Amino acid sequence: MRKERVTENVYVFTSEAYAQVTAGAIVTNEGTLVVDTLPFPRETREMIDFLRGESKRGIRYVINTHHHADHVYGNYLFEEADIVASERCREVMRKSGEKNLAEAKAQTPELAEVQLRLPNVTFPDKMMFHLGERIVRLLPLNGHTADGIGVYLEGDKILFAGDAVMPLPYIFWGDRVTLQETLKMIKEMNLENIVQGHGEVLLKGEIDETLDAGVAYLDAIYEKVKVKLQSRTSKERLVNDISLESCGFSSIALDGLVKQLHRSNLLRVYQTLTAKAR
Ligand SMILES: [Zn+2]
Repeated sequence: MRKERVTENVYVFTSEAYAQVTAGAIVTNEGTLVVDTLPFPRETREMIDFLRGESKRGIRYVINTHHHADHVYGNYLFEEADIVASERCREVMRKSGEKNLAEAKAQTPELAEVQLRLPNVTFPDKMMFHLGERIVRLLPLNGHTADGIGVYLEGDKILFAGDAVMPLPYIFWGDRVTLQETLKMIKEMNLENIVQGHGEVLLKGEIDETLDAGVAYLDAIYEKVKVKLQSRTSKERLVNDISLESCGFSSIALDGLVKQLHRSNLLRVYQTLTAKAR
């Protein structure tokens, strides 16, 4: 796990074990608010050990940005904290969390001790925390999934975006147009930093360009899959034919994992377009 200070009392923790997934923390004199948990207990414990020393009031809240394993599997280690998420997030975790966790444990021995802990504080749309001198707003950021939220730190203008912002937009479980709307909305927020769900923290000078590139990419994959479908290209060929580079992105981010994400995105667009045609 790599620890980085974004600004005074604001930290980002990046996994070195899984897909550069991030967690964050806002430390105040009235306690600490954590954003996401990292998936593997070893790294989550490292983060907790550091944070317990930072505020006398301890860790009070853990926000889950969405229900995906790599963001929530550490929940159970924050015994003293409330787990906060959107109502939808809790609902998805309640319905499929145990089954998914059992499957994950079968594949990944490091998860053997993980227990599913559901969010115990949920909200329908928006929520606000007044913690010490800090004001923190939770707001919907859908598209990567339908249960996504962002954590916005007022004053410093830092957004913890969950997987709504990643080194490559990722819609396999989500909705392309919704994610485009979300990216455009984030651009309007005029932010200083974005903590992405995976990968590096975005600096002010990179934000507009990154968000625009994401919107353009989501247009590009739609157009390219549509053209391939018109020439009756098979699903398998289409996924191989449309390169990530031809959609405006390089293949190196997230240690090359973006290539897989891109293929899944193409499949998602293919599914959506063929379902419509039927
Ligand atoms: Zn995710």
